[in-house]
Amino acid sequence: MSGHSHADDSHSHVRHDHEHSHDHGHSHDHEHDNHFEPIEARVRALETILTEKGLIDPAAIDVIVDTYQNEIGPRNGASVVAKAWTDPEFAAWLADDATAAIDSLGFMGRQGEHMRAVFNTPEVHNVVVCTLCSCYPWPVLGLPPVWYKSPPYRSRVVLEPRAVLAEFGLELPDDVQVKVWDSTAELRYLVIPMRPDGTEDMTVEQLARLVSRDSMIGTAQALNPGAATDSVAAGSAT
Ligand code: FE
Repeated sequence: MSGHSHADDSHSHVRHDHEHSHDHGHSHDHEHDNHFEPIEARVRALETILTEKGLIDPAAIDVIVDTYQNEIGPRNGASVVAKAWTDPEFAAWLADDATAAIDSLGFMGRQGEHMRAVFNTPEVHNVVVCTLCSCYPWPVLGLPPVWYKSPPYRSRVVLEPRAVLAEFGLELPDDVQVKVWDSTAELRYLVIPMRPDGTEDMTVEQLARLVSRDSMIGTAQALNPGAATDSVAAGSAT
């Protein structure tokens, strides 16, 4: 969009002037961009320039970002959860001092220095937000998804968590209490979803595959074994 008008700079002045007055006439549009944090605005500006110069392919970047958001990043958190499901001592440590417990598995780093694990139970469901900006536990979950950073999620999940969760496809019984945790730069949360039924014979690796990114933010439950990938299904002989 904006990329087009900039790329057309070499065109006639008439066209150029038109683009300018058009921009001014719609200056309120720019207010929509104000929720970007400075670093995000810089990254977007850089991506636009590099794309215009033909140095990068936005589609390729999207694939890389998507991979980190959905695949590589959250695998760390999934292994934390699977270990907590199978190792009561580790689970107790995680509840008491998540920062140290997670560090013991090697998942520490920027944006994850102070962690707290919140455990889902049949009575309590936890969900995480950052109402101020987009604080997120990078070492265990990777990059935050776009919706996590969106103003509607950030405001609505506090005001009407059940409605928001329902939009994610997570309908909770009325007697389940929903706790919303507001992340900060100082403290970030990892939801430990409940271990699904029928997983008694699964290995830690198989269990980790049931732990989706969203289940560790609290907008989903862990997957049922039937919904897991082929390799899990292949593991059971009976
Ligand atoms: Fe934040």
